[in-house]
Amino acid sequence: MSRDASPASDGPPALRTTGVSAGYGAAGTAVTDLSLRVPQGQVVSLLGPNGAGKTTVMRAVSGLLGLHRGRLTGGRVELFGKDVTGARASQRVRAGLAQCLEGRMVFPGLSVAENLASGGHVRRYRGGALTEARDEVLTLLPRLGDLLDRKAGYLSGGEQQMLAIARALMSRPKLLLMDEPSLGLAPRIVEQVRDIIVSINEAGTSILLVEQNARMALSISGYAYLLEGGRVYAEGTPEALEQDNDIAAAYLGAGTAPVTPRGADS
Ligand code: ATP
Repeated sequence: MSRDASPASDGPPALRTTGVSAGYGAAGTAVTDLSLRVPQGQVVSLLGPNGAGKTTVMRAVSGLLGLHRGRLTGGRVELFGKDVTGARASQRVRAGLAQCLEGRMVFPGLSVAENLASGGHVRRYRGGALTEARDEVLTLLPRLGDLLDRKAGYLSGGEQQMLAIARALMSRPKLLLMDEPSLGLAPRIVEQVRDIIVSINEAGTSILLVEQNARMALSISGYAYLLEGGRVYAEGTPEALEQDNDIAAAYLGAGTAPVTPRGADS
C-alpha cells in the first residue's frame, strides 16, 4: 500500500475536483468550492461530522446528484485526466469509477452470486468474463465464496458490507468510492473491512474513502481532507493532521491512540 501522497505519482490523478459546488434546490448549498485530489494508487480520506457534505461530494463525483434532486452548481470533475463534469454516471463507470454505497444497499432477495453478477452488468461481460471477474473479486473477499447461494438478506451486517464492496469491484474499477464502509459494524469487523480496503488498494485500485471512523481511515490513507459545513476545513497527511492539537481533539477524539500507519503496527 502506498501512503505517499507526493505529486510524483505517475500520470494524472485518479480523481481531481476543482472548485466543486453542489446543492439541493431549496435546501441550499451542501458543498462549496471543493478541490481535492486522489493520486493514482492511493487511498485518500474524506472526513467530517454528519451533514458536512461528504456524501454530496461522492454524488458529484459519481454523477448521481440528480438522482437525489441535487445539482452541481460549479466546478469541474476529472477522472484520470478526463473531464467528466457533464458526463452521465454510466460514462464515469466506463472511465473506471465504481461506488460502494453507504448502508450497504445489497439486493436482499437475491443470492450473493446474483448480487455479484449485478455488479458486473455495467461492463457487459461476455462468455467467461463474468466468472473471471468474480473469481478475481473472491480472491480479495474469499469468505463470500462460501456464501454464493445464500440470500443477501440473510447475511450478517459485516457480510453484507463485504458483499457491497465485492459488487462494486465486479466492474473492475480503477477508482473506488467508498461511503462509510465501517458504519454500524463491530470493531472486529471494522478491522476486517480495513484490511480488505488495504488489499483492494494494493491490487492497484485508487480509493476515495468517506468515513466517520477517522482513526481507521487515517491509518490506511496517504492523505485526508476534513470537511466542515461543505468546505475543506483542513487537509494533509495523517501524521500532519494528528500533530495539530485542535484537529486531533475535534476530529480524532481526545485521549485515543495516535494514528499508526499500517505496517508500522508490529
Ligand atoms: P452524513 O455523515 O450524515 O452522511 P455527510 O457529510 O455525508 O453527512 P451530506 O449527506 O452530503 O453530508 O449532506 C450535506 C448537506 O446536504 C446536509 O445539510 C444535508 O441535510 C443536505 N442534503 C443531503 N442530501 C440531500 C437531499 N437529497 N435533499 C436535500 N438536502 C440534502
